[in-house]
Amino acid sequence: MATIRSLLKFWALSAFAVFGWLRLKLARSPTLIILTYHRVLPDNSGEREQEQPGMIISPGNLQRHIKFARSLGAVPVHLDEWLRKKDTGETLPALSVAFTFDDGWRDNYLYGYPVLRQEQVPATIFLVTGMVDTGDTFWPETVIRLLRTPGINLNDQSLEWLQPYLGDLGNYSTPLSLLEADEIVNRLKDLDDATIIQHLKEATSRLTAEINGGDQAPVILQSQDLKEMSGENLVKYGAHTRNHFRLNRLNSREALEEQITGCLSDLEAMNLNSVPIFCYPNGDITDGGEQLVANHYQAACTTKTGWNRASRSNFDLHRFNLHDGNSSTPRTLLATIGRSLA
Ligand SMILES: [Zn+2]
Repeated sequence: MATIRSLLKFWALSAFAVFGWLRLKLARSPTLIILTYHRVLPDNSGEREQEQPGMIISPGNLQRHIKFARSLGAVPVHLDEWLRKKDTGETLPALSVAFTFDDGWRDNYLYGYPVLRQEQVPATIFLVTGMVDTGDTFWPETVIRLLRTPGINLNDQSLEWLQPYLGDLGNYSTPLSLLEADEIVNRLKDLDDATIIQHLKEATSRLTAEINGGDQAPVILQSQDLKEMSGENLVKYGAHTRNHFRLNRLNSREALEEQITGCLSDLEAMNLNSVPIFCYPNGDITDGGEQLVANHYQAACTTKTGWNRASRSNFDLHRFNLHDGNSSTPRTLLATIGRSLA
């Protein structure tokens, strides 16, 4: 039975791959494919043990994606330039590809930028401006670090808020497996970001002796990295809010403005290669947020999958989220693309 299932899976994957390849090869009217990445970590990086697998690409895979996109005839472009040319009616290649990185991880500089330079490929990094130059990380990574640390008492009073999201796992002691921790992170998304961050702050200050890796090197991009990467005009910076708060969890106009227009002012104040393009955290959109984005930005990236024809609204850009798990071979990469174009 398992053999039949894996055979079926193989054929479905192959069919999607062939379909994806055909759609890309036959693209005639100007089409833009936007690829989304998060973290770039070498295969042997210890940080992989404390990160959601769907967040990571290896530098080798990133480079293979670039070469493969070129072999299909896709021209790497700056996202803002493609949009500008489209809007002014300039000639565009039949197939373009824009590389984007969400969140502003420092590994983008350490391991992604060398690949971009070597291949001379432009990219946009969507920054969470309130985190630049801090030693902070995002709450899912803090939760994973907590749950992956051996010997944490999950019944500790400071973790009471976490209990409802642990399910059966609450009866076990840490370390939990990466998959278990990943599942708990997904469940926690029922809470709003500020609440989770506040809980974690209290918990980690109490459990600080137990949680390892507390004083690591910064994991978020620093000003110096940003400056260096913008030097050759290969990397530009877009907006991904001030604190990575999901917009559908914000209740007031002020809170939305802080995240949306506040992030844009931060970018402008950095005085680097910034572009007025917004990227919705977690893909969560609300009417109020959408309105503010439309009033202040040139375009917005969503987490909807698919390619972009010239007719697509600049504020509804579709992308393909790639990681080692869904794109480490040409067949899986094409299947990931083909599946959402079917
Ligand atoms: Zn993000």
